[in-house]
Amino acid sequence: MECGLCRLTPNSYRNLIAHVPFCQGTQFGQVETKRKISGISGRLKNMHLSISFLLVGSLAISIGACKKSTPATAAGDGADWTMYGRTNDEQRFSPLRQINEQNIGQLGLVWSRELGTTRGLEATPLVSNGVIYTTGEWSVAYALDAKNGKILWTFDPKVPRTHARTICCDVVNRGVALYHGKVYLGTLDGRLIALDAKSGNPVWDVVIAGQSKPYAITGAPRIVKGMVLIGNAGSEFGVRGYISAYDAESGKLVWRTYTVPGDPALGFESKALESAAKTWHGKWWVAGGGGTPWDAIVYDPELDLVYAGTGNGTAWYRELRSPGGGDNLYIASILALRASDGELVWHYQVTPGENWDYDATQPLMLADLKIDGTARKVIMQASKNGFFYVLDRQTGQFLSAKPFVKGVTWASGIDPKSGRPVESATARDGLNAVVVSPAPGGAHNWYPMAFDPTTGLVYVPAREGSSALHAPDKHWTSNITNWNRGEDAAYDGPLLAKFLSSPPMTGHLIAWNPVEQREVWSVSLPQVESGGVLATAGNLVFQGRSDGVFCAYRATDGKKLWEFNAGTGIMAPPVTYLLGGVQYITLMVGWGGAAGINNIPGSGPVTPGFGRILTFALGANARLEIPPFGHQGPPSPAIHMNATPATIHEGDILFTRHCFYCHGVGVVSSSGIPDLRYATAETHHQFESIVLGGAREQFGMPSFKDALTRDQVRAIQAYILSRAAAAAHPPSSKAP
Ligand code: CA
Repeated sequence: MECGLCRLTPNSYRNLIAHVPFCQGTQFGQVETKRKISGISGRLKNMHLSISFLLVGSLAISIGACKKSTPATAAGDGADWTMYGRTNDEQRFSPLRQINEQNIGQLGLVWSRELGTTRGLEATPLVSNGVIYTTGEWSVAYALDAKNGKILWTFDPKVPRTHARTICCDVVNRGVALYHGKVYLGTLDGRLIALDAKSGNPVWDVVIAGQSKPYAITGAPRIVKGMVLIGNAGSEFGVRGYISAYDAESGKLVWRTYTVPGDPALGFESKALESAAKTWHGKWWVAGGGGTPWDAIVYDPELDLVYAGTGNGTAWYRELRSPGGGDNLYIASILALRASDGELVWHYQVTPGENWDYDATQPLMLADLKIDGTARKVIMQASKNGFFYVLDRQTGQFLSAKPFVKGVTWASGIDPKSGRPVESATARDGLNAVVVSPAPGGAHNWYPMAFDPTTGLVYVPAREGSSALHAPDKHWTSNITNWNRGEDAAYDGPLLAKFLSSPPMTGHLIAWNPVEQREVWSVSLPQVESGGVLATAGNLVFQGRSDGVFCAYRATDGKKLWEFNAGTGIMAPPVTYLLGGVQYITLMVGWGGAAGINNIPGSGPVTPGFGRILTFALGANARLEIPPFGHQGPPSPAIHMNATPATIHEGDILFTRHCFYCHGVGVVSSSGIPDLRYATAETHHQFESIVLGGAREQFGMPSFKDALTRDQVRAIQAYILSRAAAAAHPPSSKAP
């Protein structure tokens, strides 16, 4: 049976507009569709009209069938985007195809909403019944009207700004969870908060991560069987990682599973942790051990298993945290937990004895694939360590892994029998520095990837290249008020020189065939960092870049079909949904995160700026006004300080130890955090009261009085002024 007007069968028509108006109030769907016409341009008007027309023709066909069918769900029809990865399998693939490879040229801006933020925005917006729920800097939550971007409510959890001191990677948040009229939010200061979805008022607020320790939460909560699951971060500072499950209604703790063993003298919480302790040496528990599950948590309702990825250990270097070696379970691992009680069912350690900041926290994706002729339920990860892993998610059995970027040096491959990496002889050198690829930022980080089941390809935001790891600090002892990566910041050896002369890192969007473990196409990007990915049935892949350009590519061959200048660097993944029969795409725009604030040299063009939310549809043509941002002209030293080269060198080392993670390598900021080379005379006169006295704590600049002396602060100040002078008079500039 097909429509007499358009020759479409109900199935193909359903694919065209994802059939929301069919089964969920058909008349209402048409009214909504028509009402929207007035607000948008003529081309969209025509398109809407034709959709309405199609509806009339198709309704007669479809209504009878719909009466008996189950109500449409977000998972099935793509109308709403109500979960972090859209569906439980977190494939980030939408069946919507109203926007497709033929008409993508007509995609334009419907509305934009300025948030007034200057830090990284990483959230996946959730969309339900025409309302967008998302998060911004400092764990602030927003609800917006999807039709026009009007802010319906804002909730600020009032995270103490002093917390900026004990987070690794900017004051970011990756989004909320929705369930039964509530919005769930994890906060930078380690709380889980339930908000009323209509009003944004808090319903309950629990501290889930000990606030006396440097825990943080940046990841999005997930809903599992009436519980809210949340992990935590802090392995770079020294904590013990865990996943917690809270009753969604009451906020009561249901279970908690630690990822690394604690002090054996206190007894182990489980047999799994008791056996894990055999893979550690020394007194690892003093620094916490690490293994924080700070991003990926995925639920498989069919197997009733929760999967989570765990981070690096504390310290980064195995020789420091576990003298004598060992695998150090369960850091850098993929864990499968029983959903009802959190008990460990299986584990796969991605990087045994991890030593290079290769967290295994990257997005986990579930799929059913045919491998060697057999249907397998798999879990996939494009891991920070450069290998793309496919495991059997029922058993944890290793199926395959291949490097998805070029030039991986830490391991030559993964042994197919044992599933363990074949480490290179150069990957570790005791207490000496090594040059290794991937770099600690990883070949792929938290940026979500997407899987299109029709092309069979996984689209991965990837980074290629190596980095020098500083030598471990032989005198390291854990101190939870500071970084505990354990590196020797004063190290300035020949390996660093070798690294600095090696080719710069590069960024790529890679289409990967997970069955054959091979690249099908790859787009070379103008910068190292690029944002999360969305795939749609329109044969499209969407991704933003750190220079602020939002792009759409053809899913089958990677040809770029469309781009839009969003005005500020993009990290977050876009989402898509239907509203009144129209397909929309919504994206958070805001530059920062670890890559943004560290500003590693050679990262390519990036665009710091104000944060905003953008929404696109076919035929729309709203103009984006981009407010000016940043400094004009080169910096120059605002005051003069008498400082010896030795003092400036000391300031360089101290800056690298305490300051660069926010203010940028070499005092060059490429984010919303102040570029100190432009600091005014007034700032320099207050320098000590800012750094030691906490005079700007309310803006996110905490006091370092427990870590630095007055002389050391003056050395840092002298180094900053020397960097401003170097920028004002670069060696290559000639006198006129
Ligand atoms: Ca890490």
